[in-house]
Amino acid sequence: MPKHVDIDVFLIGKTSVNRVEVRRWLDYLEANGYEIPEQEAVTDPALLIALAAKRCYKSFEPGLNPNVTKVRTDLVEYIDNILKSGHGSVFEHSVYNFAIEGVSRVFTGEMNRHRAGWAISEGSMRYIRFDKDIPYWVPNSILENPSDDADLAARKKATREIFDRAFGATEEFYKELLGVWDMEEGSHNFHYKKRVTSCLRRIVGMGVATGGVWSGNMRALRHVITMRADEPSAEEEIFHVFSKIAGLMIESEPMLFSDFTKDGNGSWKPKYKKV
Ligand SMILES: Cc1cc2nc3c(=O)[nH]c(=O)nc-3n(C[C@H](O)[C@H](O)[C@H](O)COP(=O)(O)OP(=O)(O)OC[C@H]3O[C@@H](n4cnc5c(N)ncnc54)[C@H](O)[C@@H]3O)c2cc1C
Repeated sequence: MPKHVDIDVFLIGKTSVNRVEVRRWLDYLEANGYEIPEQEAVTDPALLIALAAKRCYKSFEPGLNPNVTKVRTDLVEYIDNILKSGHGSVFEHSVYNFAIEGVSRVFTGEMNRHRAGWAISEGSMRYIRFDKDIPYWVPNSILENPSDDADLAARKKATREIFDRAFGATEEFYKELLGVWDMEEGSHNFHYKKRVTSCLRRIVGMGVATGGVWSGNMRALRHVITMRADEPSAEEEIFHVFSKIAGLMIESEPMLFSDFTKDGNGSWKPKYKKV
């Protein structure tokens, strides 16, 4: 019986601010009167974005730039105005690092098309050998749902069974190929094992579970949440992942993401698109 896995998203890192160096920088700019907000008042990623934006106009305090006579002191209003005015490039300074596990190559194929603002390290099927099983995530669309009528429930059940048989058959073929190339023997060098592993991956379906690390800046995250946490258009797996990421970002970074609201379909829609 093939192994079923859950998809999980791990927030493994994010931008932090060095307040001592920020103070030294602000003093250099003669923004001595600007008080760096307390850690409880603003997250580091949001603070960094606000500082970068304020540097553009030297708007840390009135008069520092003679053209600026008034400054917004409320950071919520300040960041909302950045979004409203489309000054989104400052959102690129702050980054979140996610490990995403249990996803298939259906997900990674789509995710990795997002070029702008992302760093990607995906599990290598050239190096990673499937010894015991070929695990996969059972798509939500074929899970049992109490609202299904008998016909739909029967089709879903049959689909789950055929998925298991297909993955099971691939496991058997894969093991057979491992035998052909004596891969169970411990005597082969790494180069040999890599070449065989790389060749054999061709028979593995794109539903196989994999994972990796994706780091995205705040501008890129806003864009991909808008495109992929969108129920009618997004594929179900990337929708599943980005619904989780949307919830996490809104909770962790309310100043940067709270213009997103969930509609009746479960899609996350921003007030400010393409910032
Ligand atoms: C519903 C849906 C269906 C899709 N179907 C297909 C399909 O059938 N075939 C297929 O190949 N792809 C398909 N895609 C993928 C799609 O075409 C994009 O490649 C993918 O969504 C990445 O998004 P992006 O282009 O916004 O790039 P990102 O890298 O996320 O870039 C973000 C933004 O930066 C700007 N940008 C990035 N790179 C450049 C550049 N080189 N030049 C100028 N501006 C740039 C653009 O404004 C872009 O929107 C589909 C995507 C969706 C959401």
